[in-house]
Amino acid sequence: MVSQDKGCLAAGLITAQSELDLDENGSHSLAITIRILLVESNKANTFPLGPETPIKDILRELKIRLNEKFEDAFWLVIKANTGADGKSGNTLRKYALMKSSFKYEKYLVAPMPTKYKVCMARFRLSCHKLEIETGRCHKPYPKPAHERICRQCPSGRVEDEAHFLLSCEKYDTLKTRLYTDLQDINVTPNVHDPNALKILDCDDTRVLLCLGRYISQCLLLRS
Ligand SMILES: [Zn+2]
Repeated sequence: MVSQDKGCLAAGLITAQSELDLDENGSHSLAITIRILLVESNKANTFPLGPETPIKDILRELKIRLNEKFEDAFWLVIKANTGADGKSGNTLRKYALMKSSFKYEKYLVAPMPTKYKVCMARFRLSCHKLEIETGRCHKPYPKPAHERICRQCPSGRVEDEAHFLLSCEKYDTLKTRLYTDLQDINVTPNVHDPNALKILDCDDTRVLLCLGRYISQCLLLRS
């Protein structure tokens, strides 16, 4: 029974034609949708879909294509200028500044205290009380982003993640230790680099430990 179903799937994928194979709503059937994923979106045309193609190869290729589609959608969402309503700002854009690749984050399994991991997760997901976030809840109206000024130092700069992590004077003592620790492992953050936040996305567990400790201690200092 199972092999018969598999045979039907393979046959359907091969014979399905987009202009003919529609369901009662006029949408593509499952067979043509899979065929599009396997063949028509495969620009390199490296997957030979034919009558003799083993079902396990079809399923393996399908998994690869679905993962690619999911990753494409992921980057589109986090880099969009607006949120899901199409009007408000996209809070995930900060996350995009820290993200350089689609992967399981190393800090989640790095050998460091759980409290550091919790602080890093909250920081990365904008689940914190920096002005850039609390300004969203300002009454009666949200503060414009450029008015969400840091109250921890006299810089007059917006208190966003980059300011907190790289330049706020409030944490200078802790920052000196952070930079010393990073230099010991040959890492030198550039505060003027627009991609500086991507240091949070690194795979070096020594760097992640330094950052986790620093963020944890800074958040404690401002509470
Ligand atoms: Zn500051």
